[in-house]
Amino acid sequence: MEHYKIAAIPGDGIGTEVISAGVEVLEFMAKQGKQFSIAVETFPWGADYYLQHGQMMPDDGREMLKPFDAIYFGSAGDPRIPDHITLWQLRLNICQGFEQYANVRPSRVLPGVKSPLANIGPGDFDWVIVRENSEGEYAGIGGRAHRDFSEEVAMDVSVFTRSGVERIQRFALELARSRPRKKLTLVTKSNAQRHGMVMWDDTFARVKEDYPDVETDKMLVDAMTTRMVLDPASLDVIVATNLHADVLSDLAAALSGSLGIAATANLRPEGDFPSMFEPIHGSAFDIMGKGIANPIGSFWSASMMLEHLGEQAAADQLMAAIEKVTAAGETMPADLGGSATTREVTEAVINALDY
Ligand code: ATP
Repeated sequence: MEHYKIAAIPGDGIGTEVISAGVEVLEFMAKQGKQFSIAVETFPWGADYYLQHGQMMPDDGREMLKPFDAIYFGSAGDPRIPDHITLWQLRLNICQGFEQYANVRPSRVLPGVKSPLANIGPGDFDWVIVRENSEGEYAGIGGRAHRDFSEEVAMDVSVFTRSGVERIQRFALELARSRPRKKLTLVTKSNAQRHGMVMWDDTFARVKEDYPDVETDKMLVDAMTTRMVLDPASLDVIVATNLHADVLSDLAAALSGSLGIAATANLRPEGDFPSMFEPIHGSAFDIMGKGIANPIGSFWSASMMLEHLGEQAAADQLMAAIEKVTAAGETMPADLGGSATTREVTEAVINALDY
């Protein structure tokens, strides 16, 4: 029986609530299913840690995470601390420090969940957005000069490397190849951004030649938002830059019914560093401490983590349990139109697990 060491970083706000719910489900699955065993170690990094220590995680934090098989992350964000500090010092510090260059975001309408799109229901779309997660617009290159003077100037430089672009496009092509429809849409903005984005297009034209079995097409990011709303069934796997895919995946989460169900994986496909799994939503301080956060995004991320660890059967089992609960519709959290608490949804998913 395989044994996995999981590092849990609940972070801030509802992150702590949904990660403890997810750990409960994972520990139940390990105990009940006897397919694998897990040991979860929790790291108390985030806003409170920052207010005590002046940083979101310790200097040797990544060294501490290295020996783990996977990282299970909640959210980082606190109204008392600027967002760029909470984001860069924790989540991006881990993603970029471990070169987790492939950010994978599945979205579809789960049974029993209502999409805000009229005429769209479960089964009508099934997307995976692949976001370049290590460079592009979020490379952190740039600066500010003439600070606090009226001439102040600020620059963020988008960084695109041929190797970085090629590796994410190959990753997306491989992913598309592994799915029944074998379709991949490249999203850029090569009409307006005429250097990096044109290199994305050129690289794609070259790399896709190695995948003749994958059907490909290209969209500009603005037109893509329209297509996602008007013709969602025409899309399968989507690959885009860090910024473009960040925006598109929030749209995808909303179209699938709620931000509270969406999950994401920050993958280091080479496996030399741990990958990280997290719900898409943030700290949601408006509902923090009320016990009403929807834990489904956290459960879906746990399912992605199990899949990454090689426990496909357990990953499928967890998704099936989630879908059984949403399909039944009796234990829906507030953001999905019900009144069930985090605890009640967690118990319902545990009870729906088929052992
Ligand atoms: P951050 O700044 O950390 O990204 P945020 O509070 O600005 O966080 P989100 O947490 O991403 O933004 O979500 C926006 C709103 O959606 C929240 O304020 C909350 O009302 C709702 N929401 C998000 N996630 C959930 C969830 N899991 N369950 C219920 N409601 C949620």
